[in-house]
Amino acid sequence: MSKQIQPVRGMNDVLPAEIGAWQHLERVARAVFDAYGYDELRVPVIEHTELFQRSIGEYTDIVEKEMYSFQDSGGTGLTLRPEATAGIVRAAISNGMLRGARHKLWCLGPMFRHERPQKGRYRQFYQFDLEAIGFPGPDVDIELIALSARLWRALKLTRVRLTINSLGSMESRASYRERLQHYLRSHDSELDEDSRRRLGGNPLRILDSKQPAMRALIEGAPLLTEYLDPESQAHFAALRSGLDALGVAYEVNPRLVRGLDYYSRTVFEWVTDALGAQDAVCSGGRYDGLIAQLGGEPTPAIGFAIGVERVVELLTLAGGVPPAAAPEVYIVVNGERAEREALRLAEQLRDALPGRGVLLNLGGGNFKTQFRRADRSGARLALILGDAELDRGVAGVKPLRREDGQIDCPLDELPARIASFL
Ligand code: ATP
Ligand code: MG
Repeated sequence: MSKQIQPVRGMNDVLPAEIGAWQHLERVARAVFDAYGYDELRVPVIEHTELFQRSIGEYTDIVEKEMYSFQDSGGTGLTLRPEATAGIVRAAISNGMLRGARHKLWCLGPMFRHERPQKGRYRQFYQFDLEAIGFPGPDVDIELIALSARLWRALKLTRVRLTINSLGSMESRASYRERLQHYLRSHDSELDEDSRRRLGGNPLRILDSKQPAMRALIEGAPLLTEYLDPESQAHFAALRSGLDALGVAYEVNPRLVRGLDYYSRTVFEWVTDALGAQDAVCSGGRYDGLIAQLGGEPTPAIGFAIGVERVVELLTLAGGVPPAAAPEVYIVVNGERAEREALRLAEQLRDALPGRGVLLNLGGGNFKTQFRRADRSGARLALILGDAELDRGVAGVKPLRREDGQIDCPLDELPARIASFL
């Protein structure tokens, strides 16, 4: 035998046994997104590397060390998307969708980051992404967060809580940045290597560091909140009172800065205590400067991303996944003529029972084997079609989940009567 090919580290197969949770999440999420008027779009998994460098920012973990970047055979620098916002904004610009228009968009798909794989942290993972483009807020900020809260309710997930913050305008961030640089420089000896590199370029990133050794330093840093410009203060106050009015509970975390450069004003994160260290299940924020930065006309926008694997894990832990639908009918066959006829009968029954499972025994087997397969399939009804039944123009009908005995039903009446046997 040849050597087995291994899966790529950090990239998962979602097997049929697990897919029920994914499908449940997708169904519920689509219904919630519909309820708020978000439209689905699909954008490529590969973009020009420059798109991510210019949007996410040079001094971020993603751009510094997590991107899957390569040159194609034509020498073009490309990257497997590490997140979806940049690609969606690129699509809105490329397709001439801005021009003062407003869009509510969502997208589902895989993202790629070269991180250290562990539970809840993979190199290919899925995100739901929502973006509201052309809305200055704070009304849309409130509505978008209410949407996420509704999604958790619809999924019956209770172990999630919301933290929010405001990063202010680009200008107020600039003055805070200087203040923070000053503070960090005066504690130079406590900085790790990453932080030293970021000090000049983007000191805010340092606040996002997950290094335990940096914790005390970060705790002592001046707060961005104290540098907010008046408009951002008013925006943030309106966000808080809007959430209060809707009964959406939150906690203000003045140290929440988020790991991407493009955010301004509102940022938020939903975290859980049920998944250990990988506790963020949904994160997002406002990015009023990004679209202009990528060459589109200045357009305010806000969005968030949900980590699908982490939500699937929460759903599974909470036992909130409805069982998969079993097939309704399993057709047991015996004899060459019956096998041919059974293929036709199965098609007729699939017409009569749209969307419900009609399984035909394939690949032969004696009655005992076939009934065992029928039982394992979860089907409620077995139909028995042998050459003897065929000669009489009937099929045997045998309930599998009740004690009733087998009866005969004329073949030409079966499609019309099948529902009454179930
Ligand atoms: P984290 O702090 O866990 O690294 P992040 O801030 O990098 O998250 P975002 O870039 O905001 O995450 O992505 C949005 C969501 O995508 C996260 O809240 C999380 O649920 C999920 N996510 C991010 N990175 C991964 C990953 N490597 N594997 C699985 N899910 C991920
Ligand atoms: Mg990360």
